[in-house]
Amino acid sequence: MYRSDIHDADVPAGIVRVVDQRGRVQGRALWSPTSEIRLRLLTTEDCDITRGWWQARIGAARDRRMPLESITNAYRIVHAEADGLPALIIDRYADHAVVQLLSAGLEAVRGDVLGAIVDVLSPESILLRNDASVRRHEGLSLTVEEAYGSVPPHVEIREATRRFGVDLRSGQKTGGFLDQRDNRLHMAKLAVGHALDLFTYQGWFAIHLAERADAVRAVDTSEPALEQARHNAQRNACTNIEWIAANAFDELRILERAGARFDTIVLDPPAFAKRRDNLERALAGYKELNLRAMRLLTPGGHLLTCSCSYHVTRSQFLEMLRAAAADCGRRIELERHMGQSADHPEVLTIPETGYLKGALLRAAH
Ligand code: SAH
Repeated sequence: MYRSDIHDADVPAGIVRVVDQRGRVQGRALWSPTSEIRLRLLTTEDCDITRGWWQARIGAARDRRMPLESITNAYRIVHAEADGLPALIIDRYADHAVVQLLSAGLEAVRGDVLGAIVDVLSPESILLRNDASVRRHEGLSLTVEEAYGSVPPHVEIREATRRFGVDLRSGQKTGGFLDQRDNRLHMAKLAVGHALDLFTYQGWFAIHLAERADAVRAVDTSEPALEQARHNAQRNACTNIEWIAANAFDELRILERAGARFDTIVLDPPAFAKRRDNLERALAGYKELNLRAMRLLTPGGHLLTCSCSYHVTRSQFLEMLRAAAADCGRRIELERHMGQSADHPEVLTIPETGYLKGALLRAAH
């Protein structure tokens, strides 16, 4: 509920009982006295929110992810509202938990929440990655804190047949892009011939592609990310990946001029539309990348293309791809809609819970 919906609320951040204008109890909610989003409903019951209550919700979210265990030991255990736990993120990386407390109300009860995480997940350590910028809207500081146990400098995780090193303290998001797992595994099966991974970060897509592709070219501007990518390649005994430190826009132009062709391409750029007001520029950027990537496909070749900009809707994303395909002048097929991994479920009535759009495209013969 937003600021404008609330009456009578001169209380500090924490958990409150919500009562409507006729005096009927609506439930219990997290209360953020300075945020635009004042109330986040936890339950419609009139019950106390104890450490046991958090245990039950976190336990249910954990049980829901159990089928993933056979594939990976790095996944999202709690995806905020999608698990009935607004403003709370819990990611598992092997035996370690990385947590984000994204509202002032939740921060006020962190003792109970962290206690419940220890009770349910028995992690070796808990790292609070409270450096997400949304905390500013809540009047909270941005910090990274070891909240329990001792967090090692590197944690090794497994994802299907591959192993990756993760730096929980400084890796992007909570350490890595867990939301792309399903797409990585899909592409691992599909990759053939010459593959190109644009915006590779620490090489997770590239290393999966390298299992079946003959050769992989992986591109990122960040030298430190590529350094980790090289370590990851060694860890998996991959010798068929070339790591290129370059701007993806420039690299695409160079490849096109050189007449290069690829059978498998992954295009996973960062969010170009961080705010709604630069949407048009962002869409132009996405279109340029996609158009150039489409031109590089061999006949029958696949392009996995993504956008993680929340402000770009799925229909705008598809419209952008249509425009790119039209300019490219080739027949491009949409083989499959892709999105965020199943451990990041989207609540249909809460659009913020869904942000990653993807499409698996194929150039016709
Ligand atoms: N595909 C990765 C995640 C990509 S994150 C995975 O599945 O793990 C986005 C990456 O894009 C970051 O590593 C960032 O360094 C890189 N990047 C940002 N702008 C870039 C540009 N213009 N050219 C190449 N890389 C860029």
